[in-house]
Amino acid sequence: MLLSDIELHQATTLEQASELMARYAPGGRLLAGGTDLLVDLKTGRVHSNHVVSIQRIAALRGISVANGEMRIGALTTASQLAFSAVVQEQFPAILDATRDMAAPQIRNMATVGGNIASAVPSGDLPPILIVMNASVILWSPSGAREVPLDSFFVGPRETVRREEEILTEIRVPFPPRGFGAAYQRFALREANACAVAAVAASLWCNEDRSIRDARICVGAAAPTPKLVPAINTLLAGKLPDEKAIQRAAGATVEACRPISDIRGSAEYRRELIGVLTRRALQSARQRALGGKQ
Ligand SMILES: Cc1cc2nc3c(=O)[nH]c(=O)nc-3n(C[C@H](O)[C@H](O)[C@H](O)COP(=O)(O)OP(=O)(O)OC[C@H]3O[C@@H](n4cnc5c(N)ncnc54)[C@H](O)[C@@H]3O)c2cc1C
Repeated sequence: MLLSDIELHQATTLEQASELMARYAPGGRLLAGGTDLLVDLKTGRVHSNHVVSIQRIAALRGISVANGEMRIGALTTASQLAFSAVVQEQFPAILDATRDMAAPQIRNMATVGGNIASAVPSGDLPPILIVMNASVILWSPSGAREVPLDSFFVGPRETVRREEEILTEIRVPFPPRGFGAAYQRFALREANACAVAAVAASLWCNEDRSIRDARICVGAAAPTPKLVPAINTLLAGKLPDEKAIQRAAGATVEACRPISDIRGSAEYRRELIGVLTRRALQSARQRALGGKQ
């Protein structure tokens, strides 16, 4: 599709964006950084004659702290996230994911809201945000609702977001004492390559170092990022030693049913998931027991 065939509408408020989307329904598309959408429009994966840009809605920008949470405006770019003082000091696991994402030019345009709303199975931010208990705010003229990120994705490029809703904010609770998380991924080259497989892990440990809560989320291996259901039962009460980590990696591989595609076979992905789970848990353990998340 030629981009010149598309009419661009610039909204400056959420209300205006929503009016424009209603006017051009069902074919209108929201545009944030455009790093996914413009590729999809050019390659014909998505067809639309009306694109509604939300880039000028100032209320969707920036990172703030309130009620024990970090609140990330949907238009915050991956670079802004990585350079934010609060992320650097309190959320090193989010830095793991922004460091691996695309390349600097893309990170300067790619928004956090777009990374989540696009629901591409290999997206780097969803797995780590899921293990950190993040949620998203979905706004429409009839009100706003908060949806836990682990129930936001329903399929590849499919979410529970309704047509008229705009993702406005991502909320991430500040990690409690004894909590550590980490993200590990493997791609076929260093930059501008989607993950072949990715694993985010979190460990919340008691004073005696035993595990109080554990979560593992696998990315790029299923239609949606997936929490491994049995992990907490397997690890709770145990010390996060190498034996426990090895068992958790085995259980994660068992729980995954990856597909074969041009980036790797199912067998290769299973192998990767085992290695990435071990590395993510080791790094999460170091952060949990080192006193800092
Ligand atoms: C060369 C290249 C390399 C890449 N590498 C990676 C990578 O390594 N890891 C990775 O995770 N991604 C990667 N991407 C994908 C992309 O950069 C990210 O997913 C990015 O975060 C998308 O954000 P955006 O603001 O550009 O979204 P857009 O392209 O503007 O939008 C994407 C989709 O989300 C919808 N949308 C956007 N914002 C909102 C909102 N606030 N509310 C509701 N719907 C919304 C749009 O309508 C559209 O359907 C890469 C892309 C390119 C081109």
